[in-house]
Amino acid sequence: MTALESATLGQVDAGSEKTVRLADILKQAAKAREVMHRREEQIARGEPAEKKECCNTSVGCIITNPAGDKLILVENSYGDYKYGLPAGHGLDKNLRFEETVREEVEEEVGITGKKEEDFAPQSGATAAYEDPCNRNNGKLHYWKVYSLKADEGEGSYVGDEGVKGMKWTSMDELKQLVENTRAWDAAGRPADGFPEKIETLWIVHMKKAGFLEGVDVDFALNEWKPKELKVDTSA
Ligand SMILES: [Zn+2]
Repeated sequence: MTALESATLGQVDAGSEKTVRLADILKQAAKAREVMHRREEQIARGEPAEKKECCNTSVGCIITNPAGDKLILVENSYGDYKYGLPAGHGLDKNLRFEETVREEVEEEVGITGKKEEDFAPQSGATAAYEDPCNRNNGKLHYWKVYSLKADEGEGSYVGDEGVKGMKWTSMDELKQLVENTRAWDAAGRPADGFPEKIETLWIVHMKKAGFLEGVDVDFALNEWKPKELKVDTSA
């Protein structure tokens, strides 16, 4: 259990800190899986499918080379942020996060043949945020972040929805993207000379997972707007 997963009871607003119960999130995930199942049936019958339900969970993966000096970035096909990391809804199809992260990595960057145990949970980066999505009830997501080692020959663009490319990136390039994001945030718009940036949420995830040592990311940790929620893991 991380410091974030405190045992505060109830869905109360204690000062500036809101708490969300993990049990409620898992209930919502079960509802989202039911909707996903119904949608498949509706689509099979040729009927209009109902809107997807958010499972309030997300997975993401930091894929590095064995030396740990390069990682995989994906190029987003929507939004302001050019780059992010492989990620997706967490428990909307599967019952376990490990199954989902393995599938997301396969679907977004074409890395296959990994076992679930190859994905190392980054408990420091496990947290919930008020980061809305466009599905029903998509107000927050409980994130589970994993890391995976892969060879630089692995990974290719496979044409997944939401992703329009991928690349192996050096830590120096990653640091430059963090600087670009800082410049954009300070300017409140695309900053001159800094055309590319990385999702702020990923700067937060990577810092918490220990992947941005020596890089000042206070602007992301302190000023980023989506509020972090306390997670109550008691039953
Ligand atoms: Zn969602």
